[in-house]
Amino acid sequence: MALERTFSIIKPDATRRNLTGKIVAKFEEAGLRVVASKRIQMTLAQAQVFYGVHSERPFFGELCDFMISEPVVVQVLEGESAIAKNREVMGATNPADAAAGTIRADFAESVGENSVHGSDAPETAAEEIAFFFSGLELVG
Ligand code: UDP
Ligand code: MG
Repeated sequence: MALERTFSIIKPDATRRNLTGKIVAKFEEAGLRVVASKRIQMTLAQAQVFYGVHSERPFFGELCDFMISEPVVVQVLEGESAIAKNREVMGATNPADAAAGTIRADFAESVGENSVHGSDAPETAAEEIAFFFSGLELVG
């Protein structure tokens, strides 16, 4: 198994409720290491590009408005099979379907306001990391 990096966002519903530390603890307990992290407020243009794959979906406008509503914490997580492991720790998109103990089961408020984003494949992980972090922020 190879050491991988993946991209994570702690979404506005979670930063608003001061859950950043509890969410990071779940990553760390799963063997994921935070190798880059910053708190930002996304612009509408950034949110629209970031979620561009969903631009035709009915929830797109609401999703972008939510993602820019308050600050988020963007992070790079590293570990063995980090992409799959992060998705496992996150739980299903809809918290009603999320396995017990996952971030979304414990913290998400709804299918839209579901506390975390995580990359779904190596290509998207690389793209999403590069979208939010410069090479200089990724040393070590
Ligand atoms: N989303 C939503 N309604 C839906 C499906 C998705 O509001 O019916 C939002 C939700 O915030 C989700 C994001 O759009 O996390 C991206 O959807 P995706 O299917 O990629 O889910 P994820 O990869 O985040 O589990
Ligand atoms: Mg997705």
